[in-house]
Amino acid sequence: MTKISTGTITEIHCCALDDGPGVRTVVFFKGCPLRCLWCHNPETQNANPEPILRGGQHVTVGRTVHVDEIMDVVKRDIGHYRATGGGITISGGEPLAQVSFAREILKQAQASGIHTCVETSGYGDVEPLMAHVDLWLFDIKGFPKDYEQLTGGGFGLVEKSLLTLLRNGANVMIRCPIVPPFHNTQAYDDYLDQLKTLYPGIIEVQRLPFHRLGLDKYEALGREVPFIPPIPSADAPRSLPTNPSVPHATNSPNQTTG
Ligand code: SF4
Repeated sequence: MTKISTGTITEIHCCALDDGPGVRTVVFFKGCPLRCLWCHNPETQNANPEPILRGGQHVTVGRTVHVDEIMDVVKRDIGHYRATGGGITISGGEPLAQVSFAREILKQAQASGIHTCVETSGYGDVEPLMAHVDLWLFDIKGFPKDYEQLTGGGFGLVEKSLLTLLRNGANVMIRCPIVPPFHNTQAYDDYLDQLKTLYPGIIEVQRLPFHRLGLDKYEALGREVPFIPPIPSADAPRSLPTNPSVPHATNSPNQTTG
């Protein structure tokens, strides 16, 4: 694989606590081939830097960075990683969409003794990264039959990636957003319960609560909100209709592509 030492990111987030074990530095890649209806990071979907409205001003989200710049930031917190079992997480966007760049970061982190983690939809080629990832945070985003409608991409490639990782003994934690009305049914809950049986080797299956934090970002990017989740409610009913109507995730020419 060609070595690529520069890539496009939106930000580097230090001292994160929700993107893998311990205290972590999270690098958010820019560019994603999917268009999940509930995506709360739409500024990471387009592969290129783009204007976004912040505080009434247009600024650019996304920039090209060299691996060395990322590692300079990541290494600052080595003491925190060692004390908490943390490390670096590459997220996005989709890390597999810049797989050679991701590989260089992960290789350098490993060489520095830093725990490595990748958050992915699995919609891409996982093989180039396998030797350099200590933990995979792998999304399952819906029933296989609904995948295309919910995310704009089919489940076939996702399942292939998952099986490749598991057959090679990778540490895989599954993360599943629970977004009403798509995921809060008894049937889907049962499906998630079965994942460890369907795909032996999975360490854990986590259910992630949904939120509405990304809605303002669509407007700031000059884009239409593809789907408005209901307001979270502590006493919302758990079961909804078994066949909720599912709008289509789109990847139309009018939309920026990752
Ligand atoms: S995989 Fe889905 S949720 Fe994640 S960045 Fe891409 S579109 Fe957004």
